Amino acid sequence: MKQGFRGGVYLTDYSELRRPTEPVFFDPPDEMVYPLTSWNGKTSKPVVAKGEAVLVGQLIAEADGEDSSNLFCSCSGTVRIIEKRRTLSGRMQECIVVDNDGEYTECEGFGQKTDISELGTGEILKRAADAGVVTPQCLPAEKVLAVKDPGSIKTVVVNCVECDPSLFSKEVLVNCFTADIVKGADLLRRMYPDAEVVFTVGSDRADTVAKLRDDVKGENIRVEALEAIYPQGEPHCLIKTLADIDYPASVTPEELGFVIIDIRTLFAVKKAVLDGEPSMRRVITVSGDAVKNPCEFVVRDGTSLAVLLEEAGGLKDGAELKKIIVGDHMNGLTPSSADVPAEKTADAVFFMTRDYAAEAEAAMDNCVRCGRCFTVCPIGLAPQMLAVAAEMKDYERFEKKLYGMECTLCGACSFICTARRPLTQRFRHMQQEILLMREAEEKEADKNE
Ligand code: SF4
Ligand code: SF4
Repeated sequence: MKQGFRGGVYLTDYSELRRPTEPVFFDPPDEMVYPLTSWNGKTSKPVVAKGEAVLVGQLIAEADGEDSSNLFCSCSGTVRIIEKRRTLSGRMQECIVVDNDGEYTECEGFGQKTDISELGTGEILKRAADAGVVTPQCLPAEKVLAVKDPGSIKTVVVNCVECDPSLFSKEVLVNCFTADIVKGADLLRRMYPDAEVVFTVGSDRADTVAKLRDDVKGENIRVEALEAIYPQGEPHCLIKTLADIDYPASVTPEELGFVIIDIRTLFAVKKAVLDGEPSMRRVITVSGDAVKNPCEFVVRDGTSLAVLLEEAGGLKDGAELKKIIVGDHMNGLTPSSADVPAEKTADAVFFMTRDYAAEAEAAMDNCVRCGRCFTVCPIGLAPQMLAVAAEMKDYERFEKKLYGMECTLCGACSFICTARRPLTQRFRHMQQEILLMREAEEKEADKNE
């Protein structure tokens, strides 16, 4: 079993939550809401108008600017309105609201199969882009798949490591959609003929490791069980673990001979490229200590989180909902209400009876200089010193002396901090402020040219 990188933290083992992994296909009955701005701020431009009839798989908004992506309708019905609604990011943003007719009538060409032998790399990338497939970071899939020289790629990592032990969506993909994953691997071997395809799985998912070893066979395909330590699934940790190569922020995986794709992205690419299904539904874990019947759903984008909670049996008797987390416990989004729609990158929704972040904030103390944060940082940064620079707004020291822009915001230091200090939150603010300053400087320089 491999770990490879320094630091990291062991998260709570949620094996008691383990359950049959057959997902429930769920067709929501009511309105569907499609935000035009993703949580990472990328916008799409609507191509439908109020009163227009729409079908499943129909383009409703197109990519508008760098790193944005096309949006597709996941139901059939009529566009009721385009208006501001609350979204996962917590902000009020323009959304296309569709009155779902419950028929789920598909648009022409939806589900049209393509033979893999007809496809070259350019066509695979184009189809994935047209279908609006994005990575978990909400970047277009071609950002991780397109390389200058496919021959230079020696390893393609299909990452199945769950970043949080209470997530099961990747496990469901491997166990219940195996044929799609096998085909997805075939696409990768077509795109990077000289590369080995390595499936990485956390060692806590023994069934998934066994399933992959049994079913995803072939020349140049390998399955690696990695130590179940957080943040094993992050690109720099994967590269360090698999090849013992340091991966500084200034280089790309491609420069190191790697392509890294998340298994959920690979699944969506396969559906788009070979099955004619644009990106509009996904496997989502609905869980948390407030939920009556935690389970995995295959969810259509635009479905309200409140509807998902209801479908999972609602709240446990007497449970009081204190927090909603979309994504993982370390880095997830925390919408203030369940009346927000599921978006493309959602892979889990947790309904919690405790707000651990607020509790930590209330219990926050002065740094006791215990040094624990230093020991867990997988990048080798000095979180305690970064925090001092952040508190003093010393941008120069944060960036140039302490390499704060290399911080991946994994959250391991905040998790382990004896004084329960919100270190990662501070680093996120500093990084955002530095990026904004850089942008302003570039604009100023352009003006003066
Ligand atoms: S959040 Fe940043 S500083 Fe903290 S452990 Fe992760 S990479 Fe290191
Ligand atoms: S873990 Fe927390 S208390 Fe300990 S040195 Fe780091 S910031 Fe200070």
